[in-house]
Amino acid sequence: MIDKAKEILQGTFGYEEFRPLQQDVISNVLNKRDTLVIMPTGGGKSLCYQIPAMIFNGLTVVISPLISLMKDQVEQLDEFGVPAVYLNSTLTPDEYHYNVSKLRAGEVNLLYLAPETLMMDGTRRLLADLNVQCFTIDEAHCISEWGHDFRPEYRQLAEVRKTFPDAVCLALTATATPRVRDDIQQILEMRDSAVFVASFDRKNLLLKVADKENPTDQILDFLYTRPKQSGIIYCFSRRQVDELYHDLKAEGHSVRPYHAGLSEKDRTSNQDAFIRDDARIIVATIAFGMGINKPDVRFVIHHDMPQNIEAYYQQIGRAGRDGLQADCLLLYSYSDKQKIQYFINQKEGNEKKVAEKHLEDIIHYLEYDGCRRKPLMKYFGEEYKKDECGMCDNCLRQKGDLQDYTVQAQKYLSCVVRTGERFGAYHIADVLRGSKAKKVLQLKHDELSTYAIGMEWSKNQWIQLSRLLIRRGYLEKDADHGYLKLTADAAAVLKGDERLTGVLDRTQTAGKGESRPKTSSDVENRYNEHLFEELRKKRKELADEQEIPPYVIFPDTTLMEMSYYFPQDEEKMIGIYGVGSAKLKKYGSPFLKIIREFCEENGIDERSGAITKKVVKTSSKQKHELVGEEYNSGKSIDHLAEQFGVKSATILSNLKKYLDEGNSLIPDGILEASELSQRKIDEVYASMKKVGPEMLKPIYEDLDKTVDYNELRILQLAYMAQNGN
Ligand code: ADP
Ligand code: ZN
Repeated sequence: MIDKAKEILQGTFGYEEFRPLQQDVISNVLNKRDTLVIMPTGGGKSLCYQIPAMIFNGLTVVISPLISLMKDQVEQLDEFGVPAVYLNSTLTPDEYHYNVSKLRAGEVNLLYLAPETLMMDGTRRLLADLNVQCFTIDEAHCISEWGHDFRPEYRQLAEVRKTFPDAVCLALTATATPRVRDDIQQILEMRDSAVFVASFDRKNLLLKVADKENPTDQILDFLYTRPKQSGIIYCFSRRQVDELYHDLKAEGHSVRPYHAGLSEKDRTSNQDAFIRDDARIIVATIAFGMGINKPDVRFVIHHDMPQNIEAYYQQIGRAGRDGLQADCLLLYSYSDKQKIQYFINQKEGNEKKVAEKHLEDIIHYLEYDGCRRKPLMKYFGEEYKKDECGMCDNCLRQKGDLQDYTVQAQKYLSCVVRTGERFGAYHIADVLRGSKAKKVLQLKHDELSTYAIGMEWSKNQWIQLSRLLIRRGYLEKDADHGYLKLTADAAAVLKGDERLTGVLDRTQTAGKGESRPKTSSDVENRYNEHLFEELRKKRKELADEQEIPPYVIFPDTTLMEMSYYFPQDEEKMIGIYGVGSAKLKKYGSPFLKIIREFCEENGIDERSGAITKKVVKTSSKQKHELVGEEYNSGKSIDHLAEQFGVKSATILSNLKKYLDEGNSLIPDGILEASELSQRKIDEVYASMKKVGPEMLKPIYEDLDKTVDYNELRILQLAYMAQNGN
């Protein structure tokens, strides 16, 4: 049966391979075993029930709490040619009856229902007549009072479910806490259920924290480098949303606001504009986001600090569901922390304790100077094993940015002491810079020994240093006046027992001074942007005609692959991501026409031998050749291991063989498989240069056996790929 599932994945949905756990979940459901699935947003939960629904001889009922999502799902399925309907209070009586008649005629695979609708007698009677094979509960955490979104109606699902003894039960959620997980299983009385927990690491999210200095300018800098992308900007308050919205609009950005203070009508219209690509940016409070299924959100900015890691992760999770790189930028300032602290202080008892712990956790994340995925994954109970992810600001920072600031730190701290720990960062900077400002002279601070000892730096640099000192816990800022005070730890720096190294300027938001992230694929880096734009225009036109969001026709990934591979006919088109048989029939020719014309005008040929994917089945190529070619087309080693159902070591030996036969390999992707730090990698390379890369044993010995053979194999391949074998 799993072959059938794979066929549907490729033929109907146009995807090449299952994502992690999808296949296991699907075969479990097909075997009628109750299943609980915990996957992060964007992990691919929907296919876990949609594919079985197409295989079962009967109906799959999907309980979903959000009416807007239901409509979106049904529209998407419709485009893929999968028969699905929904029943909820937004339908007109005619539409309702039409859907019911389709259900009674057995013409439908999937029925989406709101929990309230399910409880209605009419619905119950209807379902009793239908052959329900699978009972799916989406957003299953709503069942638990321990989740962040408890819905009392969900409690009754257990009862309803009992009336379908033949149906298998599948519950899905993106909330990972064990407490919620147990509740779901218990309340739904899931018989010998299996639990599948996917990794919460969303590899395509680029995580970034910057010091908040002039937030509007910082955001404008960021937007300037992304003129066509869609994104969400979260603010703490409604007032802040309105202000930023006006500022961005005044700068000519395509933007809409969203918060609970707007009328329902305005909110819906602004949300629709965003989903339909009529507005590129939405500035919002946390009220925005539930029920947004837009896969091509390319960035999420936090203008203000989120209240806890769980909320932060949920919000940034809305970016990059399509698997392409997406940027998450958080602007952090000490006063935001104090604002949250202020609210916490109004609370009492346990609630206060919990809130304090939340604040502590997020501050730890924000001030962390190693790979950000470590504290983040740890929070979700997962260990991040690599030294570097290559997709966070700390990992991408160029080594030169990290400098020793001990001397300046000593000057700064002494100046804070000399002025009596009664001033803020600006005044201290003035004194160090020998300013003749009235305040400095009046206070006679020009007579202090620390006056004018910091002429080597600009005022701004001294202020940045004060932030670094706060981040490292050498200075504290008094909550009432903003005065800087030394902590007990500062003495060690003053005495010279401890050195201060760090990054001074953390205000850049536009990616300057960073190396390029390493996970983006060749397709993402080298697709033809002009063709992409033309295809996008066509997509928008077709979407508006049918009043559906553009991504329902094709996600960006699909257009990007088209603008990279330049497929010239239907046979090649079907090899493109997200092109299944229904979509090929409906949209194949208008898109092919644009691609052909574009290629003709610009003298471009189809990328040869590239669209190997789904078409490859019939080819007579040897496995290592396939692996080599697919690898060079931008796939990661992990991805290939999954695709071919083998260990990554096997993929490596396939790649070695491919290389040995005189082909070339892109080195970056090989290095991704290594868990060593860049420092260690350079050490291994040096050794390979010295004793030669061909034999591993001499290298192993040369490195005093500090690097194991698995790693050496990876680096040998990377080294050879780099140095032309
Ligand atoms: P979730 O419900 O877990 O947030 P979705 O089911 O909405 O995630 O899937 C996120 C995106 O990934 C969708 O655009 C979906 O079509 C796509 N997707 C899901 N599974 C696959 C797959 N196996 N290959 C390629 N794309 C997939
Ligand atoms: Zn990292």
